[in-house]
Amino acid sequence: MSCLVKSNYSHQLSSTAMAMCSSFCPQIPNQLRARPICPFPTKPQFTLSVKAFSSETSNASSKADGLSTRIGFLGLGIMGSPMAQNLIKAGCDVTVWNRTKIKCDPLISLGAKYKSSPQEVAASCDVTFAMLANPESALEVACGEHGAASGMSSGKGYVDVSTVDGATSKLISGRINATGASFLEAPVSGSKKPAEDGQLIFLTAGDKSLYELVAPLLDIMGKSRFYLGDVGNGAAMKLVVNMIMGSMMASFSEGLLLSEKVGLDPSVLVEVVSQGAISSPMYSTKGPSMIQSTYPTAFPLKHQQKDLRLALGLAESVSQPTPIASAANELYKVAKSHGLSDQDFSAVIEALKAKLQNPPK
Ligand code: NAP
Repeated sequence: MSCLVKSNYSHQLSSTAMAMCSSFCPQIPNQLRARPICPFPTKPQFTLSVKAFSSETSNASSKADGLSTRIGFLGLGIMGSPMAQNLIKAGCDVTVWNRTKIKCDPLISLGAKYKSSPQEVAASCDVTFAMLANPESALEVACGEHGAASGMSSGKGYVDVSTVDGATSKLISGRINATGASFLEAPVSGSKKPAEDGQLIFLTAGDKSLYELVAPLLDIMGKSRFYLGDVGNGAAMKLVVNMIMGSMMASFSEGLLLSEKVGLDPSVLVEVVSQGAISSPMYSTKGPSMIQSTYPTAFPLKHQQKDLRLALGLAESVSQPTPIASAANELYKVAKSHGLSDQDFSAVIEALKAKLQNPPK
């Protein structure tokens, strides 16, 4: 496994990866080959574990390479829109598609091209990213009628950054590979703000050459990336992370309500938690609004429940007991049944409030 993280200096890419970038984009002029396919962000990378990358500072030539690579982006929701926007702002040639067309408009006004189906996007691009809601939509967009697979062919790449289960990812991978194209799963850790700030963490698995090829693009959208081996490993890592997060939020919700019920100020609880070993940016950022019973959506509750459901399926497949996550999942299901699906997942606290647990008859 390898992990790469940005830091505060200039950027870099191995000569191997750069050569791959060049061969993947035959339109890149010879004099620009062996350079990154997109301009690097101004933050640097350093190796955490195994992988070593040689150093190269972002410059005008690398920007020219970025402009010559055609990037597709399918799915412009809370996460997809800022991710695509960061690619456009970095000077990349981006073509977008979204089921609800109006969400494409702000990106088109920033310079993105538009195609009216995933198939057309994939056919007109070298690398196509997909950021869809769930396994069903990821499958539909990749493999359905006029789906991306119909536009793929040898030499192209498909990078699915949606959070899905390993079985779905393998299905999509098989369909993409059957066209001669390469597949990488790359779900992300990090929410709306990290997506806007280019600070996501990519959990990738699948075609290693494609991983190295798109590394400069991942570095525009994220602060670090892990390569985890075979397809399914990235999905599994993401589900384990979100299983932990869902349980943490449910437990935090219980604590906030209990503190209030015994006469403590929950704002003080948030402050105490923030200074100790269990401190978490999640508690510090979400706690104050949870106390106000407001849940501005960064990570929709329906997606958190989907991830718990998929994580429990993963645990079931290897007979791993997960009693805490199972209990948390029930709470998110209660919250969904009370119409909170599109609220932030911190709205799970509402499921613990007596009025929701025992609604008036
Ligand atoms: P979102 O705002 O709900 O966006 C979902 C996207 O999927 C939209 O572009 C939506 O299109 C599209 N979609 C849904 N059903 C579709 C279908 N049947 N056919 C075609 N397109 C469909 O979700 P998000 O927050 O961006 O999350 C996207 C993915 O990233 C999810 O897998 C989520 O679990 C994961 N994720 C989210 C966060 C976060 O904090 N938000 C963090 C990490 C990972 P429309 O616009 O037409 O509805």
